[in-house]
Amino acid sequence: LDEVMQHSPRQRTFLVLINPAGGSGKAEKIYDKVESFLVLANVRVEKIVTERPHHALDVAEHLDLVKYDCLVIVGGDGLVYEVVQGFMKRLDWAAAIQFPLGILPAGSGNGLAKSICEAAGEISSPESCMYLSVKGRPVPLDVATLRNASTTCYLVLSLTWGFMAEIDYESEKYRFFGGQRFVVGTLVKLLAPKTWNGTFSYLESTADDADVPRFQASDSPAPELSVLPPLGTPVPPKWKTIEGPMSMFWAMNVSHASTDAHIAPPARLDDGFFHVVVMEGKASRGDYAGVMLGLEKGQHVDQPAVQLIKTRAFQLQTPDEHVLMADGERCDGGTWQVEVHRGMARVMSV
Ligand code: ADP
Ligand code: MG
Repeated sequence: LDEVMQHSPRQRTFLVLINPAGGSGKAEKIYDKVESFLVLANVRVEKIVTERPHHALDVAEHLDLVKYDCLVIVGGDGLVYEVVQGFMKRLDWAAAIQFPLGILPAGSGNGLAKSICEAAGEISSPESCMYLSVKGRPVPLDVATLRNASTTCYLVLSLTWGFMAEIDYESEKYRFFGGQRFVVGTLVKLLAPKTWNGTFSYLESTADDADVPRFQASDSPAPELSVLPPLGTPVPPKWKTIEGPMSMFWAMNVSHASTDAHIAPPARLDDGFFHVVVMEGKASRGDYAGVMLGLEKGQHVDQPAVQLIKTRAFQLQTPDEHVLMADGERCDGGTWQVEVHRGMARVMSV
């Protein structure tokens, strides 16, 4: 045993955050099944089971960055979103947002865990995610500022509007279906196709911005915005604009929106871009069916009705009463701007 201990890795301390309300309520069971990975890797564990919404945000806001080596999040994308907002509230946000995160899929939307596993060449499962958290190293992940006139928050997954936003929001009531809630929500929505009026303006990425600058920590009170125009001013002339009725708007930071939704096949964890799936005009039921059937394998992007746009910064204007979902959190419509900070966060991967 002495020999084994000599070769075992140095002792580390991980804080594990578990959301018992995520997905169909199995997060604690999921974690218990893979806790032994931590023990075998000589990791000391402290565990917090979240007791309410915003609990994870509070934990991240006050996390001792020196005491722990990694924060393992056992939940869905909503719990990750809370942790990111908590880090960004801190005075030392630039250090906090670089804190290594391990992500275990235990919600109904596990898009980030799936995207990380896909990038690492692993199947998305609690076992492989725990393996990456224990054996891997921190790799950069893009984070984006999302702002309107009154609020700013930080996205790691997606911004949706119209069709998918309403499905995501309304399907909360189908939560007991677990991952299937999105499918059920889609079927309900497909019965009544409609369009959403708005204006989407974006800085189109070109070959010469293949090397987007990486995030640099600074003493500024918030990440610097170098591309967006001030709110309320016209967008720069070289930006492109799509205006009028749209049938789909799905802006992704990473490749997968959930385990079975490969929305942005070209997206990399730290490419510095958002990838936006847009359907202009009124889509037929056939168009929608083609898109929904193609999502799992990323084949929807081959549909003639679909555009896939790569951008570092964009603005979306919609009527106030429209539903937007920012990383799965509901927001009202209006004028919103997004700018990507390349590699600002770090997640455990290979
Ligand atoms: P899902 O993918 O199923 O939405 P998440 O882990 O993303 O699962 O969590 C959904 C929401 O659950 C989060 O927004 C979080 O605020 C909330 N939450 C966390 N802990 C609790 C709790 N103990 N009771 C109720 N809600 C909670
Ligand atoms: Mg990106």
